[in-house]
Amino acid sequence: MATACTHLDQIRPVKPRTPQGCEECLKTGDEWVHLRLCEICGHVGCCDSSKNKHARKHFHATAHPIIKSFQPGEDWRWCYVDEVYV
Ligand SMILES: [Zn+2]
Ligand SMILES: [Zn+2]
Ligand SMILES: [Zn+2]
Repeated sequence: MATACTHLDQIRPVKPRTPQGCEECLKTGDEWVHLRLCEICGHVGCCDSSKNKHARKHFHATAHPIIKSFQPGEDWRWCYVDEVYV
């Protein structure tokens, strides 16, 4: 489990586009469990425990690999391509 992530240089100092919640769920009135912030473009999406999984869908749509937790008190990043915490 020593896979190194090669995508860290894509991380930008992003501002959350929708700091109040998941961008797509806010449009449709859906609910989410936890939020994830795309570190490439600032997209806020819901996690894999949420029914819509918009953070993962954002990765599939844009190939932006790195997200970080957008939950207060949580500080970790995840790379969807390498499937490792970075
Ligand atoms: Zn990676
Ligand atoms: Zn969502
Ligand atoms: Zn993105």
